[in-house]
Amino acid sequence: MNLFRRPAPSLDDLIFEAPGDTSSSDSLMPSVARPAQVFVRGQGSWLWDSEDRAYLDFSQGNAANSLGHSPQVLIKALTDQTQALINPGNGLHNRAQLNLAERLCHRTGSDQAYLLNSGAEAVEAAIKLARKWGQLHRGGAYRIISASAGCHGRSFAAMSASAGGPENRFEPQLPGFSHVPFNDLPALHAAVDAQTVAILLEPIQGEAGVIPATEHYLKGVERLCHELGILLILDEVQTGMGRCGTLLAEQQYGVRADIITLGKGLGGGVPLAALMARGKACCFDVGELDGTHHGNALMASAGLAVLDAVLEHGFMDHVGESGVYLGEGLARLAYRYDHGQLRGHGLMWGLTLSEDSAEAVVKAALHEGLILNAPQPNCLRFTPALTVSKSNIDEMLLRLARAFSRVRTAQLQCRKGIAV
Ligand SMILES: *Cc1c(COP(=O)(O)O)cnc(C)c1O
Repeated sequence: MNLFRRPAPSLDDLIFEAPGDTSSSDSLMPSVARPAQVFVRGQGSWLWDSEDRAYLDFSQGNAANSLGHSPQVLIKALTDQTQALINPGNGLHNRAQLNLAERLCHRTGSDQAYLLNSGAEAVEAAIKLARKWGQLHRGGAYRIISASAGCHGRSFAAMSASAGGPENRFEPQLPGFSHVPFNDLPALHAAVDAQTVAILLEPIQGEAGVIPATEHYLKGVERLCHELGILLILDEVQTGMGRCGTLLAEQQYGVRADIITLGKGLGGGVPLAALMARGKACCFDVGELDGTHHGNALMASAGLAVLDAVLEHGFMDHVGESGVYLGEGLARLAYRYDHGQLRGHGLMWGLTLSEDSAEAVVKAALHEGLILNAPQPNCLRFTPALTVSKSNIDEMLLRLARAFSRVRTAQLQCRKGIAV
């Protein structure tokens, strides 16, 4: 053994040194890994940390901030609602809740909507609704089939419906779920049995690395559900609210689900989610759904502001055009740096890297003043504000190129270190 050999520097050492931190995170329970910076201000596509460094944000809280940071329409809606009424309580109606439910139904062609706090909760409620329907119409069938590598949230039922996800799943899982490969219609067909009540899918798998369903597949799933007399649940927590260039991604596919979940972008940055149902799937009775903040007036007012903005004339055209512009820029960069496949729709893109270096690129990007995330070890995800400008995109591409270079240099150094 050569005792004098220096340990090879890790990629992290070479790419990124944490800046001096002012606040301590010692009292926080461990959750996701976070960089040391503390963020204090945001405007549109930009964020500032406590040392006044500016960052371009192409994650936007995992696609939650659909209109970017602190948009005027959201500030106004929240301010007005705060002054009028924050929370009469879930046992009483409030105007924002009624308006948002009605407008969501009208705009998505749904019959009923219910407002909740998070995507996982909406999925949870969708599963309950499907099981209720199974009790009424399919002899107590309860089983839900979803896709491998799908992600529907971290509550127990949502986690059980998700095949990918956390290392510790806190066994035992909830019974009544099974998983089949995505975009594989025969596998799905073969998995349906008498106990099956619904199929639950993301139109574009987000956490799996931005993997779109093919049109053939999603249309086939819709037909299969119809023929077999089971429900189609589309989890549009990430793809909905204009993210893919239409209010719902299902419109891109020409498909209509029985049950839809919305979350993330619906609140524009505040915790808000929705469960929507159509026709025969509307089967909850009084007393079967409840939650202290379900239909919270303040959160619902944010949802209304986002919905108004997204439905404004020309907004979806902007999403479509910016999406194409971003996709083309990313494709050029991927080609230049020998990276792989680009997948997505509208302003939801995933870029597969030639190696499992996505974490390193995310860190290098942060160093360059760019916020991204890596849903998979070899995949970067881009979910900018739906209001992102072409110059924001140009600037992002410059910073990303620098991050790619930084990682490449570090990788070369790393290999030399190991080879010495
Ligand atoms: C993020 C996400 C969820 C979970 O939403 P939370 O608000 O984090 O609970 C569920 N489904 C999909 C498709 C998501 O992207």
